Amino acid sequence: MQESLLTPYPYAQVALPVPMRTLFDYKIPKAMALRHALQPGMRVKVPFGKGSRLGVIVTFSQTSEWDESQLKSLTSLKDEAPVIPAELMALSEWAARYYHHPIGDVIFHALPVSLRKGENAEFRTENWWFVTEAGQAIDIELLSRAPRQQDFLKAVQQHPNGMSQNAISILGLMPNAGKSLEEKGLVRREQRAFNTAGEKHSHQTQVPPVLNREQTMAMEEILDMRNRFAVALLDGITGSGKTEVFLRVMEKLIAEDKQILVMVPEIGLTPQTFKRFENRLNTNIVLMHSNMTDRERLDAWLLSSSGHAKVIIGTRSAAFVPAANLGMIIIDEEHDASYKQHEGFRYHARDLAIKRAQNLSIPVLLASATPSFESLANALQKRFTWLKLRQRAGNAHIPEMERVDLRGQTLVHGFSEQALQAMKRCLDQREQVLIFLNRRGYAPTLMCHDCGWIASCDHCDVNLTVHKRANKLHCHHCDAQKALIHTCPECQSTELFTVGEGTEQIETQLSPLFKDVPILRIDRDSTQRKSAMTQLTQKIHEHDQAILIGTQMLAKGHHFPNVTLVIIMDADAGLFSADFRGMERTAQLITQVAGRAGRAKKPGHVLLQTYHPDHAAIECLCTLGYEQFALNGLSERKALSLPPFYHQVLIRAESGNEQEAMQLLTKMRLELEPHIPQDISMVGPYTAIIVRKAGQHRALLSLKSSHRAPLHQVTAMMTTWLEQATRQQHKVRYAVDVDPLET
Ligand code: ADP
Ligand code: ZN
Ligand code: ZN
Repeated sequence: MQESLLTPYPYAQVALPVPMRTLFDYKIPKAMALRHALQPGMRVKVPFGKGSRLGVIVTFSQTSEWDESQLKSLTSLKDEAPVIPAELMALSEWAARYYHHPIGDVIFHALPVSLRKGENAEFRTENWWFVTEAGQAIDIELLSRAPRQQDFLKAVQQHPNGMSQNAISILGLMPNAGKSLEEKGLVRREQRAFNTAGEKHSHQTQVPPVLNREQTMAMEEILDMRNRFAVALLDGITGSGKTEVFLRVMEKLIAEDKQILVMVPEIGLTPQTFKRFENRLNTNIVLMHSNMTDRERLDAWLLSSSGHAKVIIGTRSAAFVPAANLGMIIIDEEHDASYKQHEGFRYHARDLAIKRAQNLSIPVLLASATPSFESLANALQKRFTWLKLRQRAGNAHIPEMERVDLRGQTLVHGFSEQALQAMKRCLDQREQVLIFLNRRGYAPTLMCHDCGWIASCDHCDVNLTVHKRANKLHCHHCDAQKALIHTCPECQSTELFTVGEGTEQIETQLSPLFKDVPILRIDRDSTQRKSAMTQLTQKIHEHDQAILIGTQMLAKGHHFPNVTLVIIMDADAGLFSADFRGMERTAQLITQVAGRAGRAKKPGHVLLQTYHPDHAAIECLCTLGYEQFALNGLSERKALSLPPFYHQVLIRAESGNEQEAMQLLTKMRLELEPHIPQDISMVGPYTAIIVRKAGQHRALLSLKSSHRAPLHQVTAMMTTWLEQATRQQHKVRYAVDVDPLET
């Protein structure tokens, strides 16, 4: 009777959300095998330890290395169809290998939270309201004594195809009025799947501008790639019309009924991108980010996986969203470090997206005004098609970058005389100034005048930042907070003073200097509330004159047409960083912030305040621009055997105890050293730059190689060793960081 089994295997290998780098074998009960065709990517309930767990089937087998008597059976099947399609199962398995991360954790990461919790992968249903024949015929004045019912009926009469509950709520109509009308036989209700509400019918679309020559060439090159795997690097200066290029490409793909996944680095950018796409593309667009409720995310996920949504705009985790007919992946601001997850499953969404596109034979479009050194190296080596846009679109001009030598100058609240004069002129012309300082809060340090005491974090080796408005001392590394104090805990002196400036201080100190000018601060503190960023950008658009003060949040893709002056308060930050990526980051930030100036008709001007105006990197960036800066930077990296020419893996360990993390890595190095091939360069263990963070003492071991294969072999060996070693030593935790961005 074997033939009648719908699942012709005795065993299923299941991924579970546990920190073990293995799959778990379960017997498939005969009854289940007879009734269901099990497939990889389906969720199953399984017994695990003393309880039960939700798992995902990865594969099947005819045999198991475990003894029959040790094996348990699947308890129940959760899905009739895979929640993770084959394509994403393959991607997850690849990612688990590449990042040396437990497969179960990777697979569960790929699922939206509600599906991890075991909810059904189904659209919710909602009420739809329809007018009946009687309701259409009735004289509406008969309801004049029940104005709510009257409003309700009027609205439904105007929508012969029915109105969703969502539409009813948006119009502020009362469901109770609907129910009363239903009792009178004037309206009727139907339950419909939520997805029909996502259907787009008609709306206005904006007339697109005529593409310039560079844009047209880029568009054509990208369209040529559309039926195969290829990576295009759209390297266009800020305001060169990159978004316009991908809108054109998207239109073409949507016409072919394909879906496009568009990744943006930050939640704050999703509403703006959504609006711009909505105005141009006559199709269903969904958002995916962590600021949505579980239900909203599941709905977006279902709309994407079912193919209803043609455009999916999302942050990092959207790299795993299933799409029925994916035609292209676009990664905007591809250089942004937030595409890399910095804890747990440390994947890079850009690299994952490229792998995914390769599996699907579709193109990837990477866009940036300041491409990462990794992508530039790939472009130089012709692995990526390098498309350059070097002119600003429309009539906008590239802003001029000018260095302001701070040496020997008397500064007013951190500003040079030249910067203050320029601000005055700019505001007098009813234009906007953008001040960039990548440090939020009031001041980075609180110090005692009498004894030199400095407020530092109890859990990290860093100073606490003063937040005057919130009346707090705040650790920007572990988030610990305490009340702002006014007396020194060491000597009881009340002479406490702050050192250095943060955005909050600049805001406070500029307002008496520029009375009547609106000052808007944009940083993580001022944009914490859900719609704060949208409100702030709205305010920026409402005013002509304004001073915008912000951190790196300002550097990301925002469009402020009336900004004509940008002041970089501290161009030297990151110049002498211990991290070899410090210069790259600084140059990207400066270039991106500078790019906010003069994006519309008015020319822009950028002032960089620096104590090192002749530093080769700053000079190159100001006079020759980012591309030349990056090319120089790349030759330096090559000479020093650094990424992207060498591949790197960091083994991280941390422990509450001061020595344990170092000891663990030292022991590992000693034991494994004889097995490590010559071509791997191993450095460490050494302590992290900030040794103690959130109470954990951190140690690192760095592995580098010009080839990936031996590096992966060694990493696998070390991971196995660490997994074993930490089994008895629970207080030390380790992590494997492949292609790390942080040191
Ligand atoms: P980027 O994404 O490179 O920063 P955008 O696509 O946002 O640039 O374009 C910057 C501005 O220029 C936008 O307001 C856009 O509408 C406009 N724009 C883009 N392409 C053209 C064009 N070919 N002609 C006129 N305006 C354009
Ligand atoms: Zn003191
Ligand atoms: Zn801290």
